[in-house]
Amino acid sequence: MSKQLLFLPGPVMVAPPVLRAMDRPLIDHRGPEFAEMLERISAALRPVFGTRGEIAILGSSGTGAMEALVANLFAPGDRLLSCPVGSFGKRFAGIATAYGCIVETLETPLGAAVDPAALQARLRADLEKSIAGVLLTHNETSTGVANDMAALAPMLREHGAITLVDSVSGLGASEFRMDEWGYDAVATASQKAFAAPPGVAMVAVGPRARERLQNPALSRFYFDLRRALEFSHLGQTPWTPPISILYALDVALARYHAAGMKAAFERHTRYADIVRGSLQRLGFTLFSQPGAHSDTIVAAYPPPGVDPNPLLQTLREEYGIVLSGGQAELAGKIVRFGTMGDVDESDFQTAFAAIEVTLRTLTSGVA
Ligand code: PLP
Repeated sequence: MSKQLLFLPGPVMVAPPVLRAMDRPLIDHRGPEFAEMLERISAALRPVFGTRGEIAILGSSGTGAMEALVANLFAPGDRLLSCPVGSFGKRFAGIATAYGCIVETLETPLGAAVDPAALQARLRADLEKSIAGVLLTHNETSTGVANDMAALAPMLREHGAITLVDSVSGLGASEFRMDEWGYDAVATASQKAFAAPPGVAMVAVGPRARERLQNPALSRFYFDLRRALEFSHLGQTPWTPPISILYALDVALARYHAAGMKAAFERHTRYADIVRGSLQRLGFTLFSQPGAHSDTIVAAYPPPGVDPNPLLQTLREEYGIVLSGGQAELAGKIVRFGTMGDVDESDFQTAFAAIEVTLRTLTSGVA
């Protein structure tokens, strides 16, 4: 296969030293070297989550971490308020429904972020405090929308519902202050802003969530967070972990912190600005509304008359530039351009040169 440049919403380009980290002999996952690595990884993640609390490392993709949060914190019959702003928010709600929760949806138009006033109004109307939990997506990958997690936090604290956050495509790319904002549990994964391969999910658990883990009415086994946290105190995971992916994540996190968290936030903001500006110059229309733009994924309609599918296909086959299309109702309508991973400004220039030529070919009917 010829060389590809991934601008996907994940997995992303992984730097050679991170890839090389996996080319090492395996170690005993019940031994001291593994314990040291697990502690290093947790310590590196704490400031990124913005927590001093506990972190569970799971062998799974991000969806497993979302399932772990729901399964460990809510029982069948619990009423949850889901606040989707796209497909991944709906997935979170779907998991909760599968676990027997009664899920109400706070509707938000596609392309917009959750309106803090709407969330506040719904929570204030819950005088009996029947809403046990709230499901939020920090960064919605399907629509390129970021929620303002700092602005939403006070409403949630005022109500007191346990709030779970999917930050699979947000954490590491933009600031998150779990303890200060008061979020109870947050899920993320290795293959997005941390620029490691897929296969490891990470969950931060706050004190209120920690208490709820003791609830005997909960059904869980593989993703039992109580057990995961008990084992993490021993420097282990309950089950055999993806050791090679953890090697890669360990190196990726060391590189992440060597460059600095602030630099990572600024880089993603800058790249997203570049992508939005370049796409608009080429005639694309942004899908996300002003003020709701994500720093990790830019979603946009192609110029009028251009079908996203041949555009994406030509970019992939002729130029090795790999972007994503839309999901669910946005399939065949939008393209999605990721800014995460080991890419630099020159890679974006390469991508935009290819997009420009492809658009010219497609609209001249020569394709
Ligand atoms: N949540 C968000 C916001 C995501 O972007 C993704 C993956 O793209 C997921 C959840 C699911 O993660 P995974 O595909 O790792 O299971």
